[in-house]
Formats: sequence, C-alpha cells, structure tokens
Amino acid sequence: MLTELPTRGFSFELLATLGNARAGILHTPRGDIETPVFMPVGTAGTVKAMTADELRAPPLDAKIILGNTYHLYLRPGLEVMGAAGGLHKFAAWDRPILTDSGGFQVFSLAGINEIDDDGVTFRSHIDGSKHRLTPEVSMEIQRVLGSDIAMVFDQCPPGDAPADVQEVALARTTAWAKRSLAAPHATGQAVFGIVQGGTDLERRKRHLGEITALGFDGHALGGLAVGESVEETYRVLDEVAHLLPADRPRYLMGVGTPQDLERGIAAGIDMFDCVMPTRNARNGYLFAAGGRVNIPNAANRLDLGPIDPTCPCSTCRTHSRAYLRHLYQAKEILYARLATLHNLTFYALHVRRLRERILAEGQRA
Ligand SMILES: [Zn+2]
Repeated sequence: MLTELPTRGFSFELLATLGNARAGILHTPRGDIETPVFMPVGTAGTVKAMTADELRAPPLDAKIILGNTYHLYLRPGLEVMGAAGGLHKFAAWDRPILTDSGGFQVFSLAGINEIDDDGVTFRSHIDGSKHRLTPEVSMEIQRVLGSDIAMVFDQCPPGDAPADVQEVALARTTAWAKRSLAAPHATGQAVFGIVQGGTDLERRKRHLGEITALGFDGHALGGLAVGESVEETYRVLDEVAHLLPADRPRYLMGVGTPQDLERGIAAGIDMFDCVMPTRNARNGYLFAAGGRVNIPNAANRLDLGPIDPTCPCSTCRTHSRAYLRHLYQAKEILYARLATLHNLTFYALHVRRLRERILAEGQRA
C-alpha cells in the first residue's frame, strides 16, 4: 500500500504488518529508506569518527542520518552553512538527512533565559552568547541546512513536571507545530509533527489528535526516555504508537537501547535515532550478540577473538578484543573509529533482522 505524502516527492509504502509492527519503505527524492530504520546521529555535521564513505558502505549502509539544528546554528553558523549550499554539500553526504528542531537541545543543554508563547531565549553552551529560537527561526535554520525531513519546534518539559506545566507546554507545542508548518521550507523538504504529553495517556492521546490533524508528512513521539522508568516508556509506546496514522512514517525520538528498538518496532514505530551506539562506543561499551562488551575489562587483555564473531563489520573481521582494549587504554584515536563502526553496524543489522522477520512472518499490507 503506497501513500503519497503531502510534500512532493515523498511517499510511504507499507509492505507488511506483524501485530502492530510494520515493514515499509519511505521514498524520498534523495533515495529510499527501508523501515524500520535506525538513523545514526550526526550532531555537528558528522557522525562522530565516521566518514560519509564508511557510513554508506555495506554492511552498515546507512540510508539516512541526523543533523542537529541547535549545534549547527551555533557552530559553524548559518553564514557558513548557506555559503556551503546546505548540510548535504558541506558534509559530503548525498543520502537523506533528518534535522531536529533544536527544541530538545535548547531545553537540555543551553542556559534558558526565558520561555514564552513566542519562543525561547537561551545562552549558548559554547560561549554563553544570547540567542532566540522560535518556530519560524528553527524552520529557517532547517531551510538553510536543506535537510530532507525537518522537525517542528516543540517544548519538551521534564518528565516529572507538574500537570499545569505539562499543559502549558502541550498547548504551546500545538501552536508552534502550526507555525512551523506555515513557515517557509526548503524545496523537497518534508516536515514531521511531534506528539508530546509525557507519560499521561489521556494527555498523550489528546495531543496526538491535535498534531495528527495538521497534515504533516510523518509523526514523531517526543519526550520519552527523558527520566521516566523503562516500564512507563513501554506503556506509552504500547498504548500510543499504533494510534499514529498508519499511512505515514512514525518516528520515536532519541530512544534507545537495542531492547527499546525491538519494543518500539513491536509497538508500530518505523524510525529511530539515539546517540547510544556512537557515544557508548567511544566510552568503551560495545554491543554484541552475546551481550554487552565492556572493552576496558581485564578479561579482554589477552582475548584475541573479535568483539562479536557473528558481526560482519570490518572491525570484527580484522581486529581482536585485545587490540581494541589496547587502543582504548592508549587513547589511540583509531579506537573510536573501529568501535563506532562496530556499534553502528550492530544497530543497523539488529533493526534489519527485525524488518526481515516482519516481512517473512507478517501479512502483506
Ligand atoms: Zn562488528
């Protein structure tokens, strides 16, 4: 079943379903994205330690990566991004890019001066300089970046915020979603709406109704895995994800572990991003079929086997745990490259295997 999305050149093809889980293809002007998909995070215009060629090469074969509006706006800034002709040319990445709106970073990283109904005034985490982000400014930055999928500017309050704070943030996020959609976009740039509402199911479902009525190309669940328990995250996923419109891509923002991805897919999510595989790699935590490997452990000192004997990545085909542990201990920069390639490959193959299962055991859509 193929659905043309509101933005020209984008369509979503649902191939099979297994319970609430779905396998499909998001067709974009810059190429097809098989879903479910895990999107590596390229915060500052780079998926840390990886070249574009390494991201594109099988078996990793990343079809889409993320860029961060907040980070790229502060550094290198819009003058450089505009002169470079956008993020694709600047970073030499020719496949799709999704940019977040900067909302989450403003609320989590920056020093907040003031939040009002119009937008947010904040201080840069880099140099303390003062800036203002509104839905229109966020969309303008994403227009200059030229991402394939832009996210609306939203307010993500802390998970434990009182009900009145949650309600104000929710009303604002709906108003900002409308303003984001009305603001100018780059040609061929799809826009996704974001459903907030914390862990309160009534609030979540109410906001889902407000956001999905606006005509976005796709929908995201935001404000999950922001401090609530894993059980609460899964409860919201199970109750809410399948209520998002079935004919559009569904994106779970910033979550999570391999287990979270499996649960998200079972609940009906199509797209994921998280810094976990890249950040954990640099910190010595590697994912493997047999469980997590803490590479600094003394047990790896003389272990001449690969991180994961079932992994087809070049790190596992070429190098031993002992060598990686040595590189880590010696703070050699090659460590970060080898470890990141492995963790991203693990995530890509994990999601691809789940996709294959939906196609093999599910019903044709
Ligand atoms: Zn590997």
